[in-house]
Parts: sequence; structure tokens; C-alpha cells
Amino acid sequence: MTTNVAAITETPLPLWRNRAACASLPDDMFFLAGDDFAGMKRAKKVCADCPVKDECLEFAILTNQSLGIWGGTTPNERRQIRRRWLRDLREAS
Ligand code: SF4
Repeated sequence: MTTNVAAITETPLPLWRNRAACASLPDDMFFLAGDDFAGMKRAKKVCADCPVKDECLEFAILTNQSLGIWGGTTPNERRQIRRRWLRDLREAS
């Protein structure tokens, strides 16, 4: 994973978003209320075939997106990924 956080977070609208499978879908399909597991499953299905899934997930981890489905992951799943990533960074330094 990229470690150049500043370069990514300073980009207001990443260009990869133009190629996103969700570009023409409603935001509330990915930003769900409560524990809408059926909704999460629907959103994850869109992400599974998205050509920018990796870029999306990396952006969400690096910018600590705490809401919504990004790169096919829920907020809880990203928290775990981010925790591991930060641990690996600490161990590498
Ligand atoms: S991975 Fe999912 S949330 Fe991210 S851009 Fe693609 S469809 Fe949208």
C-alpha cells in the first residue's frame, strides 16, 4: 500500500472516481443507515466488479473514511485493515 498519505489526501477529487462502477448510482446505496446487511451486500456486489476497487479502498484507508462502503469494505472491515497497516508502518520504522 502507498505510504504517501499527503499526496493522496491533498487530492480533492481523485481521477479514478470517474471510472467508478458507482459513479451513476445513488450515494445512499453506499452510505447505509444502521445495520442494513442486505444493503451492504448489494453495495459490495457493485464494488466486486468495479475497475477502481483497489484505488478506492486505498483512498478510504489512507483518509480514514469511517462511513459507507468503500472498495468493497464496511467501516468495521476498514478499521481492521487500517489498524494492521498502521501497525506495519510502526514496525517498519
Ligand atoms: S469500489 Fe465500490 S465504492 Fe469504490 S468506487 Fe468502486 S463501486 Fe464505488
